Amino acid sequence: MAVFDAVDFDAHEGVHFFDDPKTGLRAIIAIHSTHLGPAAGGSRYWTYASDDAAVTDALRLSRGMSYKNAMAELPMGGGKAVILKTAAPKNDAYLETFGRAVDSLGGRYVTAEDVGISDADMVVVSRQTRHVSGLPVAGGAAGGNPGPSTAEGVFRGMRAAVKHKLGRDGFAGVHVAIQGLGSVGYALAGKLAAAGAKLTVADIDEARAAKAAAEFAGRHVPVDEIMAVEADVLSPCALGATLNATSIEALNVAIVAGAANNQLATPADGARVHARGILYAPDYVINAGGIINVATEYLGSGDAEAVTKLIAKIEGRLADIFVESDRTGTPTDVVADRMAQKLIGR
Ligand code: NAD
Repeated sequence: MAVFDAVDFDAHEGVHFFDDPKTGLRAIIAIHSTHLGPAAGGSRYWTYASDDAAVTDALRLSRGMSYKNAMAELPMGGGKAVILKTAAPKNDAYLETFGRAVDSLGGRYVTAEDVGISDADMVVVSRQTRHVSGLPVAGGAAGGNPGPSTAEGVFRGMRAAVKHKLGRDGFAGVHVAIQGLGSVGYALAGKLAAAGAKLTVADIDEARAAKAAAEFAGRHVPVDEIMAVEADVLSPCALGATLNATSIEALNVAIVAGAANNQLATPADGARVHARGILYAPDYVINAGGIINVATEYLGSGDAEAVTKLIAKIEGRLADIFVESDRTGTPTDVVADRMAQKLIGR
């Protein structure tokens, strides 16, 4: 791959490659911007089709973190680590080697959990570096697994979208289709069910989908059906790039509002969703709850109550983006990008 010419290379401050034959660790840490502070973003442990695909993911995700942290009003820049999943066991030695990789960047990058990395994994990583957040914490403190905080932010952001698009206060009778019932999706399903929403869910782990459907009085459908379910809201909470020309054409909802990072497969897909009259909640604005939680822990700048207050701001921030989009006829993702770029001095 010609990295400097890659579409997703956006004047990143640094892209670091780590290869440890002893443990089999292969990781990429991309630092997009430290304009507002240390580059913060989670570590993703995933099977990639090629090294290029892993680099692309690191480039896109780290830029997304710059935008996300800026929009969440955090004094932090944007970065991301991807760990290439292989046959090598993800044991203590492997995770400690990753910890040393993070530490070698001297605090310019601060890591946390993402897909495939648990808070227990982060405890092992933290033996080798203090530039870690998302560690288990005592009740009442900020920090710990970011999933529930992300779910809280998505819940509030979705409420702003439902208000703006459907003119409804709250979720009573609102039908939400959730793709992916992991750390975020499951917690979100619980909150929505408690608020009176009707749920349709799907997960590649069918037992998990069936469990959620039973617990929250919803129904579950096969994974290849969830994107086209007729509902009020689609909430992508699995992996990114699910919104493309084909899937957007098949959408049967008024709103897309979910936790997954990089939901739009290409920049043109934001315009496609907009052209269909579907309200899209920009992913990095609505899913900032987790980073707000872990950044507050890392910075030592507040307790769980302070985190809740910051997460609550997601609702108003999205409402502002929706209004600006309507006023200018600009897709919501472009409105958000412009706001974020201004904040990081680009
Ligand atoms: P997770 O790994 O806990 O859960 C992902 C779930 O999606 C799993 O249950 C998995 O089986 C399911 N899944 C995978 N592919 C699927 C498919 N094609 N169809 C249906 N289900 C599928 O991850 P998570 O922490 O819940 O994060 C979910 C998404 O939100 C990711 O894109 C992540 O980057 C993003 N995100 C997470 C956080 C956080 O705090 N955890 C914060 C911001 C963004």
